[in-house]
Amino acid sequence: MSYQAWFQCINEQCRERYPLNTIVYRCRTCGSLLGVQHDTQELACRDAKEWMKLFEDRYKSTQWPYGSGVWGKKEWILPQIDNENIVSLYEGGTNLFWAERFGKMIGLESLWVKLCGNSHSGSFKDLGMTVLVSQVKQMISEGAPIRAVACASTGDTSAALAVYCAAAGIQSIVLLPKGKISIAQLVQPIANDALVLSLDTDFDGCMRVVKEITEDETIYLANSMNSLRIEGQKTVGIEIVQQFDWEVPDVIIIPGGNLGNVSALGSGLLMMRDLGLITKLPRIVVAQAERANPLYRSYLRNFESFEPIEAQKTLASAIQIGDPVSVEKAIRTLKQFKGIVVDATEQELADAAALGDTTGMFNCPHTGVALAGLIKLLRDGRIDKSEHVVVISTAHGLKFTDFKVKYHEGALDFPCRFANKPIELPPRVDAVKEALQHALQKRREKNV
Ligand SMILES: *Cc1c(COP(=O)(O)O)cnc(C)c1O
Ligand SMILES: [Zn+2]
Repeated sequence: MSYQAWFQCINEQCRERYPLNTIVYRCRTCGSLLGVQHDTQELACRDAKEWMKLFEDRYKSTQWPYGSGVWGKKEWILPQIDNENIVSLYEGGTNLFWAERFGKMIGLESLWVKLCGNSHSGSFKDLGMTVLVSQVKQMISEGAPIRAVACASTGDTSAALAVYCAAAGIQSIVLLPKGKISIAQLVQPIANDALVLSLDTDFDGCMRVVKEITEDETIYLANSMNSLRIEGQKTVGIEIVQQFDWEVPDVIIIPGGNLGNVSALGSGLLMMRDLGLITKLPRIVVAQAERANPLYRSYLRNFESFEPIEAQKTLASAIQIGDPVSVEKAIRTLKQFKGIVVDATEQELADAAALGDTTGMFNCPHTGVALAGLIKLLRDGRIDKSEHVVVISTAHGLKFTDFKVKYHEGALDFPCRFANKPIELPPRVDAVKEALQHALQKRREKNV
């Protein structure tokens, strides 16, 4: 079977097509974003049961590259790529954490957290980057004069780009907003031999520069306006459904910044529906930080208009974006999935992340935004306690230890309700015994 995919303009009136090895990020006719379009008729020649069996047989196997959560679904992603050009670090296949204690605490019967941060570079960005860098390797093998791959980043995109490029032997260039990403995120591209450019601006400023830099076709653009990334990221929704034995949850909550990931989530689910693997769709909730909430503001106006804003500094630094590139795709997705948008203040996101941690999670601040959104929607009755809810955790908490340390030191500019300070003591048994006596008593009181 020879499956086909191509870039296609998302503007319904235009629908211009480009082969996937064209260096193009926006439609040359009308300027809209592109999506990757698959030949659904051809894919439908294999029935739903056969696709499910194929995906299950490959899932986490050692049969390279199909054990990857992304490449196990290769026919739905990049069907034409040669396996020898695939750059995979065994991405995807991340665990669904049954958040039983946290769910009970907030009054929800069935809560699951999809731990996308348990991945090679520590965030979901790996899912998209494996596809993009593989396609670049394919184009280079066909003789394309690509010297480097570049991105602007709030930290995780650059970490993923750098590591996939390093594995492939391709030069990466990353543009980062100076002083606005975590130390762990900064050291990742440095260690992986990227050319690291630290610019005295915010993410939106870096994005403007990288768009111009990549007008030179020898420098390929790796931001999510390049829809190759979306193709890989769309496996997250498919994988969640697969992990529930092909049952669709009622609600999926996802933190949103540049808004590529929510459109990716929607696109994977729609593809499953179109090919008959599922019949119902979940509701999708996008959670934003109040300090960077342009989508939330538009949602309050029923999406009748959208105004970019200047994002304010937020602990959820990976979503500190005021002018999201994929806003049109995101709004389209939300309209198809009875979407809801919520936002969370700094205190709400930090407390939600910390409370989750006390039940066995280790949340990044963006996951905190999603958990805080969930708490609000439950409280307002917009999510029912009997609903089956999945929260997408976008990065590993260990990338954000500075955030956690400050929280537990109580060093943020609001009260940190769940701060857990170390008790400093002289190294004597009597002192330790006495301190334990007190502390255990206090914990018992707190837990009743
Ligand atoms: C990139 C990122 C997001 C936001 O994804 P978008 O596609 O930009 O909406 C959320 N959380 C983390 C940890 C990220 O790295
Ligand atoms: Zn067009």
